[in-house]
Amino acid sequence: MSDAKTTREDEGQPGNFVADRVRADLAADAKQGRLVTRFPPEPNGYLHIGHAKSICLNFGLAALAPQGQCNLRFDDTNPEVESPEYVEAIRRDIRWLGFDWGDNEFYASDYFQQLYDWAEQLVEKGLAYVDSRSLEEIRETRGDFHRPGVDSPHRDRSVAENLDLLRKMKAGELPEGSAVLRAKIDMQSKDLKLRDPLMYRIKKVHHHRTGDAWNIYPMYDWAHGQSDAIEGVTYSVCSLEFVNHRPLYNWFLKALEIPNPPEQIEFGRLNLSYTVLSKRKLLQLVEEKHVAGWDDPRMPTVAGMRRRGFTPESIRAFADRIGVSKNDGVVDVGHLEYALREHLNETSPRVMGVLRPLELVITNWPEGKVFEAELDNLPGNESAGTRKVPFGGRVFVEQDDFLEEAPKKWWRLAPGNEVRLRGAALVTVNEVVKDDAGQVVQLKCTWDPASEGGNAADGRKVRGTIHWVSAEHAVDAEVRLYDRLFADEDPSKDFLDALNPDSLEVLTGCKLEPSVGAMEPGTRVQLERIGYFVTDSEDHQPGGPAVLNRTITLKDSWAKLAKKMGVGGK
Ligand code: ATP
Ligand code: MG
Repeated sequence: MSDAKTTREDEGQPGNFVADRVRADLAADAKQGRLVTRFPPEPNGYLHIGHAKSICLNFGLAALAPQGQCNLRFDDTNPEVESPEYVEAIRRDIRWLGFDWGDNEFYASDYFQQLYDWAEQLVEKGLAYVDSRSLEEIRETRGDFHRPGVDSPHRDRSVAENLDLLRKMKAGELPEGSAVLRAKIDMQSKDLKLRDPLMYRIKKVHHHRTGDAWNIYPMYDWAHGQSDAIEGVTYSVCSLEFVNHRPLYNWFLKALEIPNPPEQIEFGRLNLSYTVLSKRKLLQLVEEKHVAGWDDPRMPTVAGMRRRGFTPESIRAFADRIGVSKNDGVVDVGHLEYALREHLNETSPRVMGVLRPLELVITNWPEGKVFEAELDNLPGNESAGTRKVPFGGRVFVEQDDFLEEAPKKWWRLAPGNEVRLRGAALVTVNEVVKDDAGQVVQLKCTWDPASEGGNAADGRKVRGTIHWVSAEHAVDAEVRLYDRLFADEDPSKDFLDALNPDSLEVLTGCKLEPSVGAMEPGTRVQLERIGYFVTDSEDHQPGGPAVLNRTITLKDSWAKLAKKMGVGGK
């Protein structure tokens, strides 16, 4: 974690309109020198890349001043859909992203008593009342954009009667659906949110933290601003869909006469092309088993991205670069992939692996000879060192690297072509062995014994260099080739129809260089010439057959495809 922190400071604070506002307030001492933000997830699902953006923003703002603080507050006011599993996953994901909330972990449910006491205060002030009608009736009399609402017949109940009913609601003496507490604001207001909004409904359900203590649960609008106030939050940063909640947010704080109230600031939520970021839809993908779980490497969840091989640094860099806008827009997922490739390129050690093996035998290789090829871990970065990779006379190469009838300028394997096996030897194919079906099963080659290490003693030029894995030393592997989960740029409407049928291809019988066999789960590598991979965090075990997930290809094949078809914005 401390490493991540250092990196984050190095990244610096990006300029964005929220940060500008905070800086201006700090300079003017507008908030009594306080700087408190919060990230308020509802524990009803896993965090996704949109949440990651909000996390980077809120923790980034708190880092603008030494006294800054960002709280993690679980907005746990809907017990039916929330669970401790989600709480744990959220904590883990935020930590993995590189952020530390210290002791500032809070739960809206910790404030249920305070919220309730405040509700009684509003009743006493004549600013809230119990409506004993059904939710349906209440909805019908609320009016709409063109029609004003109609006052409830219970709107002018006495304070005493309201208090009595509210206490009965709380004590569980009234059935679910028989009454709600409403703020008494204005049924004629142009702002629908201000037409006597609900504050409490009766729900006789078990809560994962408060157990059966409560029979009423606060509505989002009642819980949120007051929770901010209890925590001394200065900036309640939320996404744009809450803009029309702001007048109500402020009304409650004013009605309660909260000194130095929190201030709500909205920003445009992140939408990504080829990606769905609605928790409801993500839950559906999981429940209907279109993916293997919340942490399926194709999911845009933080857990899925981690398992896919994303680095926290790449996610933070992406969040910084896309900035913060005042409008909702769609960000090209290519930006996220770019940030990922960029960081992996700098940090992922190279290893060799063959996904679709073809056997290559060197017929003039001295019996029993094993040569140790010395290869750079990170070409261009000497400090990353080198590794030794054993090479016997029999290796696997990629089927794609051989063509029996090769066109001109094909520098890879073909009958008669001399090719470099990286760092090891120069070989020439002399004979192509086929099975009964005509499939190529083996290449018989000779090598130039003066080319140990991969270069000719006489300095002749050999253009083609391919990767290989020694057959005798290879580690067997299952390799999962993940691709985008959706084939449509905008999957938002019929998202199940937009699923990419080729988002996962599982290859077995792959061959990797021996070092991969010893790697811990969750280790990132670049398979040379193929792409970035990570050893699977669940199914890979050191010493066993390797299990690799493809994080991303080396190049953006989608951009190329889109260009070819004349679509897309790249
Ligand atoms: P729900 O549909 O359940 O409300 P949600 O994605 O809004 O889902 P929350 O747990 O309420 O989930 O979100 C926590 C915080 O993350 C909120 O402050 C919300 O504004 C922010 N957030 C959620 N989605 C995005 C997004 N796509 N881009 C930026 N911020 C987001
Ligand atoms: Mg929400």
